[in-house]
Amino acid sequence: MACLFCRIVNGDIPAQVVYRGPEVTAFRDINPQAPIHVLVVPNRHIESISELGSADAALLGQLIEVANGLARQEGIAESGYRLVTNRGPDAGQTVAHLHFHLLGGRAMSWPPG
Ligand code: AMP
Ligand code: ZN
Repeated sequence: MACLFCRIVNGDIPAQVVYRGPEVTAFRDINPQAPIHVLVVPNRHIESISELGSADAALLGQLIEVANGLARQEGIAESGYRLVTNRGPDAGQTVAHLHFHLLGGRAMSWPPG
């Protein structure tokens, strides 16, 4: 059985998709933690950031490029945004398919909880 985000990428589960490309898909988080909360994912199933290295530089570059483009599109490029990925239980990863959270539209505190 394909994972949840693989099924969203494949269109088997509905989502509010804001970007769809050959390598990368982005969709709105179902439980937004900020006025703008988009998840940017590789179309290929990769469990987490820990699987990636210099051999994946092109894919990582695309994920960041899509996130930056969406930040401009969503009007948060100047006000600021956070691009974050959780890996493993202590970081709070709940879906085992690599995703970057693009968060913005409000002031955020640091350090994260
Ligand atoms: P993480 O906790 O970093 O693994 O993030 C997983 C994110 O996926 C959470 O912010 C969830 O709200 C979000 N999420 C879970 N199911 C869906 C879904 N069906 N569509 C969109 N976002 C989802
Ligand atoms: Zn997957």
